[in-house]
Amino acid sequence: MMAKEKWIAAVDLGGTSVKLAFLNMDGEILDHWSIPTDRSSKGRNIVPDIAKSIFETLHAKQETKDRLLGIGLGAPGPIDYSTGRIYKTVNLGWEDDYPLKQALEKETGLPVVVENDANCAALGEMWKGAGNGAANLVCVTLGTGVGGGVIANGDIVRGAKGAAGEIGHIVVEIEDGFSCNCGKKGCLETVASATGIVRLAKVELERADSGSILKEKFNANQDISAKDVFEAADGGDDLAKRIVDRVAFYLGFALANIGNSLNPDYIVVGGGVSNAGSTLLDPVRKYFKQYAFPPVGESTKIERASLGNSAGVIGAGWLVKKEFSREQ
Ligand SMILES: [Zn+2]
Repeated sequence: MMAKEKWIAAVDLGGTSVKLAFLNMDGEILDHWSIPTDRSSKGRNIVPDIAKSIFETLHAKQETKDRLLGIGLGAPGPIDYSTGRIYKTVNLGWEDDYPLKQALEKETGLPVVVENDANCAALGEMWKGAGNGAANLVCVTLGTGVGGGVIANGDIVRGAKGAAGEIGHIVVEIEDGFSCNCGKKGCLETVASATGIVRLAKVELERADSGSILKEKFNANQDISAKDVFEAADGGDDLAKRIVDRVAFYLGFALANIGNSLNPDYIVVGGGVSNAGSTLLDPVRKYFKQYAFPPVGESTKIERASLGNSAGVIGAGWLVKKEFSREQ
């Protein structure tokens, strides 16, 4: 009897939940589920919880771990690739560097590959999403922060300290920029993340007279979201349109300079903020062309990510296929 096709276990570890999936070797999701992230006791339950959940789900499908080629895991922090340790990640409870790869291998008896989560999202979009199989791709994720992943010739660019692709910390405002979590000022993350857009909006709202939909919404709720800004812009609100144009300028400017360095086939924009769709991406493309070296402006395409929340697990799965399938 022929051996059954192997499955891949893929994990996207986040601060509030852990997404898990089984994929086939073509990157199709066979099953997916999630469990809460237990950050208590300095995060010591996280790895055992992941192992237990994978085995329980296998068992429910009347399978054993022999069915799995390995486990791919995307983690929200920089990785020390020589050891598979993740650097101190306070929002998971890990107050020191944590031997993530080793701990999960010990807990499961399976080979494990660990990668930064933004890099996994980029690999996922390359393999099965908007990157359409292109070997040169940059992925930028606009969520609570701004994450980035750079793929050159089919491989993640990691850099000397695993900190390559930190697109969120490109400085776009050299004078009087907002303070960033990284310790600098004026980083892209401070103006193009969901929180950054709200921050920009609040500055504009303070200056604004009445007569704006957005201003009225802010006065009624004493708060606004990035989504409110895009909705008001769609509704023709001038104040909101000015804020969106400013965000698009910062993004287009930063992406043009990335484009000039790498000339990727695609720059894929994902994360919650990308749900604004063409309201955001059309002006981003305009500014991108304005600041890009002309051959880059003509050949690098800016596309919205297409895999949504699944990009991370699909990218983690791709790494398992790449790392372990030849050993079979
Ligand atoms: Zn920064």
